[in-house]
Amino acid sequence: MKYTQPVYRPPYEANTLLLQVTVGCAHNKCTFCTMYRDVRFSMEKIDQIEKDIKEAKQLYEDVKRVFLVNGDAFVLYASRLKPIADLIVKYLPNVEVITMYASINNIKGKTDEELRELRELGINDLWVGAETGHDKTLQYLNKGFSLQDSYEQLERLNKAGIRFLFGFMFGAAGSGKGIENAIATAKLINTTKPIGIVPTTLGANDNSQLAKDLEGGIFKLATELEIFEEQKKLLELIDLDKVSYLGIHTINTLSFDALLPRDREKSIKRIEDAIEKLDDNFLNSVPERHSI
Ligand code: SF4
Repeated sequence: MKYTQPVYRPPYEANTLLLQVTVGCAHNKCTFCTMYRDVRFSMEKIDQIEKDIKEAKQLYEDVKRVFLVNGDAFVLYASRLKPIADLIVKYLPNVEVITMYASINNIKGKTDEELRELRELGINDLWVGAETGHDKTLQYLNKGFSLQDSYEQLERLNKAGIRFLFGFMFGAAGSGKGIENAIATAKLINTTKPIGIVPTTLGANDNSQLAKDLEGGIFKLATELEIFEEQKKLLELIDLDKVSYLGIHTINTLSFDALLPRDREKSIKRIEDAIEKLDDNFLNSVPERHSI
C-alpha cells in the first residue's frame, strides 16, 4: 500500500482499511491547524489506487470498511470519487462503508443527485469538521465556510441519506466564551442530527496563525475549568435520540465515550467530580495542546 505522509485518521477508524486518494489538505488554511501545512495538495493516481485496492484484497480477507485518506478527501469531484468507489466494490465486495474526512465546502461542491449516487456506492459516515455553531468563532477558525453553510450542507447530507459525524472543538471560542459556544454548537447539532458528535479541544500548533495570535494577545485560550464547563453545558443541551458522543481523543483532558441521552447524567457527574477533585492550579491552567 502506498501512503504519502503525513496520514491522519480518526481514532475510531483504527481497524479500518486506509486507502490514500489525496495527499495533504485542499483547504490547508484553518487558523489552528498545521497538520498538512508543508504538504502540497495532490490527488493520487487512479492506477495507484487500483494497485492498492488489489494489494488490500491479498492482505485482508474480509474488508468491510474503507477510510479514504487524507485531510479533506471528500473534496474530490463526484466524477473522481465514483470510479474509486466502483473499484473498491469490484475488488472488495464485502465493503459496507466508504468513509473519509469532509469539509462543509466539499458537500457544497456536489449536487443533490451526486450525493445520492455517492451514497448508493457506499459512501457514508463522513467525518465532518464543522467545529462550532458559533458564527464569530467559525470565522476566526478560517474554515472557509459560513454557519449558514453548515446548516444547509449538513441538511443536504441528511436528504441524500449520508450519515455524518460532527467534529467540533471545545475552547474554540476562546476564554470567556465557552458557554456561548456550547449553546450555539448544541443548536447546530440538534438541528442537523449527526449520528455522532466528536469533540476535540483547541490547541495552538507551533507556527499556526493561532500561535501567532496568542503571542500577539489577539486570542486567549480557555482554561481547563472553562473547557469542563463548556463540555458540561454541551452535554446538557444535546437533544437527540441515541447519538454517540465520541470523545476519547487524547487531546481531551476528560476523554470518554457515551451514548446520549442514556449516559447524560453519568457523563455530567464525571465532569463535576473532576472539577471537585482537581486543584485550582490545574483548573485555572491552560495546558499545552496541539490541535489535530
Ligand atoms: S483542520 Fe482539516 S480542513 Fe482545516 S487545514 Fe487542517 S486538515 Fe485542512
